[in-house]
Amino acid sequence: MRIDKLLANMGYGSRKDVKALVKKKRVTLNELVVKDSGLKVDTEKDIVKVDDQVVIYKPFVYLMMNKPPGVVSATEDHRDKTVVDILTPELQHFNPFPVGRLDKDTEGLLLLTNDGQLAHQLLSPKKDVGKTYYAKISGMVTDKEVELFSNGVTLDDGYKTKPAKLTIIASGDISEIEIVITEGKFHQVKRMFEAVGKKVVYLKRLSMGELKLDSSLRLGEYRELTEEELSYCQ
Ligand code: URA
Repeated sequence: MRIDKLLANMGYGSRKDVKALVKKKRVTLNELVVKDSGLKVDTEKDIVKVDDQVVIYKPFVYLMMNKPPGVVSATEDHRDKTVVDILTPELQHFNPFPVGRLDKDTEGLLLLTNDGQLAHQLLSPKKDVGKTYYAKISGMVTDKEVELFSNGVTLDDGYKTKPAKLTIIASGDISEIEIVITEGKFHQVKRMFEAVGKKVVYLKRLSMGELKLDSSLRLGEYRELTEEELSYCQ
Protein backbone atom coordinates (compact mmCIF):
# COMPACT_ATOMS: atom_id res chain seq x y z
CA MET A 1 0.00 0.00 0.00
CA ARG A 2 1.17 3.54 -0.71
CA ILE A 3 2.33 5.36 2.40
CA ASP A 4 0.03 8.33 1.71
CA LYS A 5 -3.02 6.04 1.53
CA LEU A 6 -1.99 4.23 4.69
CA LEU A 7 -1.55 7.47 6.63
CA ALA A 8 -4.77 8.94 5.23
CA ASN A 9 -6.57 5.75 6.27
CA MET A 10 -5.12 6.07 9.73
CA GLY A 11 -6.51 9.55 10.19
CA TYR A 12 -3.56 11.76 9.23
CA GLY A 13 -5.74 13.87 6.92
CA SER A 14 -6.17 13.82 3.17
CA ARG A 15 -3.47 12.56 0.83
CA LYS A 16 -2.55 16.21 0.31
CA ASP A 17 -2.14 16.66 4.07
CA VAL A 18 0.04 13.54 4.16
CA LYS A 19 2.16 14.91 1.31
CA ALA A 20 2.74 18.01 3.44
CA LEU A 21 3.82 15.83 6.38
CA VAL A 22 6.26 14.01 4.10
CA LYS A 23 7.61 17.30 2.76
CA LYS A 24 8.27 18.43 6.33
CA LYS A 25 10.27 15.20 6.87
CA ARG A 26 7.93 14.13 9.68
CA VAL A 27 7.40 10.62 8.27
CA THR A 28 9.89 7.76 8.45
CA LEU A 29 9.86 4.26 7.03
CA ASN A 30 12.11 1.85 8.91
CA GLU A 31 13.89 4.86 10.46
CA LEU A 32 14.64 6.49 7.09
CA VAL A 33 13.00 9.82 6.27
CA VAL A 34 10.36 9.38 3.57
CA LYS A 35 10.81 11.67 0.57
CA ASP A 36 8.13 10.29 -1.71
CA SER A 37 4.53 10.08 -0.50
CA GLY A 38 3.84 7.41 -3.13
CA LEU A 39 6.34 5.03 -1.52
CA LYS A 40 5.04 1.48 -1.11
CA VAL A 41 4.77 0.04 2.38
CA ASP A 42 4.55 -3.58 3.45
CA THR A 43 1.99 -3.28 6.24
CA GLU A 44 3.08 -6.62 7.74
CA LYS A 45 6.77 -5.77 8.14
CA ASP A 46 7.57 -2.10 7.71
CA ILE A 47 7.61 0.39 10.55
CA VAL A 48 6.09 3.74 9.72
CA LYS A 49 6.47 6.61 12.15
CA VAL A 50 5.04 10.11 12.19
CA ASP A 51 6.87 12.52 14.50
CA ASP A 52 8.71 9.49 15.89
CA GLN A 53 5.43 7.78 16.88
CA VAL A 54 4.81 4.34 15.40
CA VAL A 55 1.69 4.22 13.26
CA ILE A 56 -0.20 1.04 14.08
CA TYR A 57 -1.88 -0.04 10.88
CA LYS A 58 -5.47 -1.06 11.35
CA PRO A 59 -6.92 -2.20 8.09
CA PHE A 60 -10.55 -2.50 9.10
CA VAL A 61 -12.98 -0.14 10.75
CA TYR A 62 -16.15 -1.21 12.52
CA LEU A 63 -18.57 1.53 13.47
CA MET A 64 -21.87 1.52 15.27
CA MET A 65 -24.13 4.39 14.24
CA ASN A 66 -27.44 5.59 15.57
CA LYS A 67 -28.79 6.29 12.12
CA PRO A 68 -30.81 9.47 11.95
CA PRO A 69 -33.93 9.75 9.79
CA GLY A 70 -33.51 11.49 6.43
CA VAL A 71 -30.22 9.85 5.40
CA VAL A 72 -29.96 6.81 3.18
CA SER A 73 -28.07 3.59 3.99
CA ALA A 74 -25.76 3.73 1.00
CA THR A 75 -22.25 4.91 0.19
CA GLU A 76 -23.37 7.33 -2.52
CA ASP A 77 -26.63 8.86 -3.60
CA HIS A 78 -27.29 11.49 -6.23
CA ARG A 79 -30.11 13.10 -4.23
CA ASP A 80 -29.91 12.34 -0.53
CA LYS A 81 -27.26 12.49 2.13
CA THR A 82 -25.88 9.04 2.95
CA VAL A 83 -24.75 7.49 6.23
CA VAL A 84 -21.18 7.63 4.89
CA ASP A 85 -21.48 11.38 4.15
CA ILE A 86 -22.04 12.04 7.86
CA LEU A 87 -18.75 10.36 8.88
CA THR A 88 -15.58 12.40 9.30
CA PRO A 89 -13.34 12.57 6.20
CA GLU A 90 -10.74 10.54 8.14
CA LEU A 91 -13.19 7.67 8.52
CA GLN A 92 -14.37 8.02 4.93
CA HIS A 93 -10.80 7.22 3.84
CA PHE A 94 -11.41 3.67 5.05
CA ASN A 95 -14.22 3.30 2.50
CA PRO A 96 -16.77 1.98 4.98
CA PHE A 97 -20.19 0.86 3.82
CA PRO A 98 -23.37 0.08 5.72
CA VAL A 99 -24.03 -3.56 6.56
CA GLY A 100 -27.55 -4.05 5.27
CA ARG A 101 -30.10 -1.33 4.88
CA LEU A 102 -32.42 0.71 6.99
CA ASP A 103 -35.07 2.78 5.21
CA LYS A 104 -34.48 6.51 4.89
CA ASP A 105 -37.00 7.22 7.66
CA THR A 106 -35.82 4.39 9.96
CA GLU A 107 -33.54 5.19 12.89
CA GLY A 108 -31.23 3.19 15.05
CA LEU A 109 -28.50 0.60 14.96
CA LEU A 110 -26.47 0.52 11.78
CA LEU A 111 -23.09 -1.10 11.42
CA LEU A 112 -20.57 0.40 9.01
CA THR A 113 -17.39 -1.39 8.04
CA ASN A 114 -14.95 -1.96 5.22
CA ASP A 115 -14.69 -5.65 6.14
CA GLY A 116 -16.62 -7.33 3.35
CA GLN A 117 -16.26 -10.78 4.84
CA LEU A 118 -17.83 -9.77 8.15
CA ALA A 119 -20.65 -7.97 6.36
CA HIS A 120 -21.32 -11.03 4.26
CA GLN A 121 -21.46 -13.27 7.33
CA LEU A 122 -23.82 -10.97 9.19
CA LEU A 123 -26.18 -10.70 6.24
CA SER A 124 -26.13 -14.39 5.43
CA PRO A 125 -29.68 -15.79 5.75
CA LYS A 126 -28.10 -19.01 7.02
CA LYS A 127 -26.94 -17.23 10.16
CA ASP A 128 -30.50 -16.37 11.25
CA VAL A 129 -29.33 -13.24 13.09
CA GLY A 130 -32.29 -11.82 15.05
CA LYS A 131 -32.89 -8.11 14.50
CA THR A 132 -34.96 -6.29 17.09
CA TYR A 133 -36.97 -3.20 16.19
CA TYR A 134 -39.04 -0.82 18.25
CA ALA A 135 -42.00 0.58 16.33
CA LYS A 136 -45.05 2.78 16.68
CA ILE A 137 -48.07 1.49 14.86
CA SER A 138 -51.16 3.39 13.91
CA GLY A 139 -54.12 1.66 15.60
CA MET A 140 -54.52 -1.12 18.15
CA VAL A 141 -52.09 -4.02 18.08
CA THR A 142 -53.49 -7.06 19.85
CA ASP A 143 -52.71 -10.69 20.60
CA LYS A 144 -54.22 -11.49 17.20
CA GLU A 145 -51.21 -9.91 15.45
CA VAL A 146 -48.84 -11.56 17.94
CA GLU A 147 -50.29 -14.91 16.91
CA LEU A 148 -50.27 -14.11 13.18
CA PHE A 149 -46.65 -12.94 13.29
CA SER A 150 -45.59 -16.03 15.24
CA ASN A 151 -46.73 -18.13 12.28
CA GLY A 152 -45.23 -15.81 9.65
CA VAL A 153 -47.32 -13.53 7.44
CA THR A 154 -47.67 -13.35 3.68
CA LEU A 155 -46.30 -10.15 2.18
CA ASP A 156 -47.70 -8.25 -0.82
CA ASP A 157 -45.44 -10.19 -3.21
CA GLY A 158 -46.65 -13.57 -1.91
CA TYR A 159 -43.56 -14.26 0.21
CA LYS A 160 -44.33 -15.90 3.56
CA THR A 161 -42.06 -14.58 6.26
CA LYS A 162 -40.41 -16.71 8.88
CA PRO A 163 -42.01 -16.55 12.33
CA ALA A 164 -41.43 -13.25 14.08
CA LYS A 165 -41.69 -12.47 17.77
CA LEU A 166 -44.00 -9.54 18.42
CA THR A 167 -44.21 -7.98 21.89
CA ILE A 168 -46.82 -5.35 22.67
CA ILE A 169 -45.51 -2.54 24.85
CA ALA A 170 -48.65 -0.38 24.67
CA SER A 171 -51.83 -0.76 22.68
CA GLY A 172 -53.92 2.28 21.73
CA ASP A 173 -54.54 4.76 18.92
CA ILE A 174 -50.79 4.61 18.43
CA SER A 175 -49.46 1.27 19.66
CA GLU A 176 -45.88 0.59 20.67
CA ILE A 177 -44.29 -2.75 19.96
CA GLU A 178 -41.01 -4.62 19.71
CA ILE A 179 -40.49 -7.14 16.96
CA VAL A 180 -37.68 -9.62 16.33
CA ILE A 181 -37.20 -10.79 12.75
CA THR A 182 -34.46 -13.03 11.41
CA GLU A 183 -34.70 -11.97 7.77
CA GLY A 184 -33.97 -8.72 5.99
CA LYS A 185 -36.48 -8.41 3.19
CA PHE A 186 -37.03 -4.98 1.68
CA HIS A 187 -39.23 -2.86 4.05
CA GLN A 188 -39.89 -6.06 5.94
CA VAL A 189 -41.37 -4.72 9.19
CA LYS A 190 -43.54 -2.17 7.40
CA ARG A 191 -44.79 -4.79 4.95
CA MET A 192 -45.50 -7.30 7.72
CA PHE A 193 -47.77 -4.77 9.40
CA GLU A 194 -49.35 -3.86 6.06
CA ALA A 195 -50.12 -7.57 5.65
CA VAL A 196 -52.28 -7.37 8.79
CA GLY A 197 -53.84 -4.03 7.80
CA LYS A 198 -51.68 -1.77 9.99
CA LYS A 199 -49.22 1.03 9.35
CA VAL A 200 -45.80 1.57 10.91
CA VAL A 201 -45.42 5.26 11.75
CA TYR A 202 -42.02 5.09 13.46
CA LEU A 203 -39.29 2.47 13.27
CA LYS A 204 -36.00 2.11 15.09
CA ARG A 205 -33.59 -0.82 15.11
CA LEU A 206 -32.38 -1.70 18.60
CA SER A 207 -30.15 -4.70 18.03
CA MET A 208 -28.67 -7.18 15.60
CA GLY A 209 -27.92 -10.49 17.27
CA GLU A 210 -26.06 -9.69 20.46
CA LEU A 211 -25.00 -6.28 19.21
CA LYS A 212 -27.10 -3.62 20.91
CA LEU A 213 -27.45 0.04 20.04
CA ASP A 214 -25.47 2.12 22.54
CA SER A 215 -28.20 4.24 24.12
CA SER A 216 -25.73 7.07 24.74
CA LEU A 217 -25.37 7.63 20.98
CA ARG A 218 -27.62 10.43 19.84
CA LEU A 219 -29.13 10.41 16.35
CA GLY A 220 -26.32 10.74 13.81
CA GLU A 221 -23.62 9.82 16.32
CA TYR A 222 -21.36 6.81 15.92
CA ARG A 223 -18.40 5.12 17.56
CA GLU A 224 -16.05 2.20 16.97
CA LEU A 225 -17.18 -1.20 18.16
CA THR A 226 -15.44 -2.53 21.24
CA GLU A 227 -13.51 -5.79 20.93
CA GLU A 228 -16.35 -7.55 22.71
CA GLU A 229 -19.00 -6.13 20.38
CA LEU A 230 -16.89 -7.09 17.40
CA SER A 231 -16.68 -10.65 18.68
CA TYR A 232 -20.52 -10.80 18.60
CA CYS A 233 -20.42 -10.11 14.88
CA GLN A 234 -17.85 -12.74 13.94
N1 URA B 1 -38.04 -3.08 8.08
C1 URA B 1 -38.51 -1.98 7.46
O1 URA B 1 -39.66 -1.93 7.03
N2 URA B 1 -37.68 -0.94 7.32
C2 URA B 1 -36.43 -0.92 7.81
O2 URA B 1 -35.73 0.08 7.67
C3 URA B 1 -35.96 -2.07 8.46
C4 URA B 1 -36.80 -3.14 8.58
